[in-house]
Amino acid sequence: MKVALLNPPWTFEHSIYFGCRAPHLPIELGASKTLLERAGHATLMRDGLLDELDIGGMAEACAGFAPDMIVVTTAPTYLFWRCAQPELRLPRMLLDALRVACPHATLVAVGPHGSATPDAALRKLGADIVVRGECEEVVLALANGGVPGEVPGTAALQPDGSIRANGGPQATRFTDLPAVRWPDHWVARHHHHHHRFEQPHQGSGHDLPGAEVEASRGCPYSCSFCAKIDFRDSYRRRDLVPLLEEIDALRAQGVGYLYFIDEIFLPNRLLLEALVGRGLKFGVQTRIDLWKPEMLELLGQAGCVSIEAGVESLTEAGRAELDKNCKLSTDELADRLIMAKQHVAFVQANLIQVSGDDPAMVTAWRERLLAAGVWANDPVPLYPYPSSPDYRKLFGLPDAQAWERAHAHYLGLFDRMSDIQDDTPLPLAELESVCRR
Ligand code: SF4
Repeated sequence: MKVALLNPPWTFEHSIYFGCRAPHLPIELGASKTLLERAGHATLMRDGLLDELDIGGMAEACAGFAPDMIVVTTAPTYLFWRCAQPELRLPRMLLDALRVACPHATLVAVGPHGSATPDAALRKLGADIVVRGECEEVVLALANGGVPGEVPGTAALQPDGSIRANGGPQATRFTDLPAVRWPDHWVARHHHHHHRFEQPHQGSGHDLPGAEVEASRGCPYSCSFCAKIDFRDSYRRRDLVPLLEEIDALRAQGVGYLYFIDEIFLPNRLLLEALVGRGLKFGVQTRIDLWKPEMLELLGQAGCVSIEAGVESLTEAGRAELDKNCKLSTDELADRLIMAKQHVAFVQANLIQVSGDDPAMVTAWRERLLAAGVWANDPVPLYPYPSSPDYRKLFGLPDAQAWERAHAHYLGLFDRMSDIQDDTPLPLAELESVCRR
C-alpha cells in the first residue's frame, strides 16, 4: 500500500496552546514510517514547517504520490500530545484539501483528540478513520488490510453516518522500535534546540542542528493534571541498540543537540554512560526526586544541559492533592534542584497554580532558587485535558462536548495567559468554525 504521513503547517492564532511553536520532528509519523517500510509499504512523509509547505503545497505533494491512505496528525509531534492545542482547525483544513486532491485515498487522523473523543474528532475532522492511542502499530494494521472499525483502536465513519469502533486506546510495543531515520534537509533546517536556555559559549554547538529522540515512552506515575490516560501512559524503555543507532545517525547528519521527548527521563546508567564521549548536548524532562547525587553528576557528564523538573506545588499537601506521589519534602526538592545545577547548565522547576500555595511563599521560594541559578516559573492554572484525571474529577468521562467543556472552564479560570500564549484566546466553537460544516 502507498501511505502518506503528514504533519500540518501549524499556526495557533487565538489558541490557548502553550506548547512550543518551533518545528520539531514528528516522531509519531517517523516511527509509523519505519514500521510501514519494514513491512514493505511505500511511504511519503511531509511536514508543513520543515518542508516549508502550506496546505495547498502539502495536498499537491500528496496528489503526486497518489496514496491509498493518508495519515494526518492532530498535534504537532508526540512531545505535545499531553498539551495539544484544543482546536482541530488546521488538521480539518488540511483534510479538506486532501479530500479534493486525493479523492480515492482513505483519510486517517491520529493524535490526542481522536484518542480521547473519537466520535467528536471524526465529525470535526471529516476524516474516514481516527486512531485511538499510540498510532504506529494501528496504522500498520490498517495498511496491512485491516478493516477500519474492526482493527483495535480504530473508529470509522460508515456510509450511513454511524460510527463503527473497536476497543479503547492502543499502546505500541515500542521497546524494540527500530532506529528512526530523518531526511537530511529536515535535520539541516531543524535549528531549534528545544528547551535549551543556557548561555551560548564557544564550542557549545548552538549553531548545529537540533533533533528530538525517544528513549522511553509513558510514565509510571499518574499526576492528576497529566493528560496521558489515552496514550503514552504505561512506562516502556527502548532497547539501547536501536536508540544509539538513531542517535549516531543524527550525529552523522550534523546534529549537536538532542531533546529526549520522554514523559519522564528516568535515571538510566547504561544510556548515560553510552552518551558520555559522544559529544552531544541534550535536554530532558524528569522528576528531580528520582535522581541521586551520583546520577546527577553522570547526567551532566553525559552532556545534559537542560532539565525541566515538575515540582508543581510547594506544599506536601498540594503535591498529594495532585497525586504526585513525591517522597521528598519541599526543602529537599529545592536542595536536589540546586545540586542538579552544579552539573547541568539550565535547571527549571515547573510550578502550577494550586489553591493552597500562598503567593508570598511561592515568591520567596522562586527567589531562593533563582539566587542559586535555578529557574522556577510563575505558576499558572492547567488546562483540564480530557485525557487527564483532573478532567474526569471535574466532569466525569469525556463525551462529545469534552473539549468544549474543558476550554470554557479554562477560559473562565483567569484573565491572563502565560507569556507563551496568545493573549486573545477564543472560545472553541469560534476556533473550530471550519470544523462545523
Ligand atoms: S510524573 Fe510527569 S509524566 Fe508522569 S504522570 Fe506526573 S506529570 Fe505526567
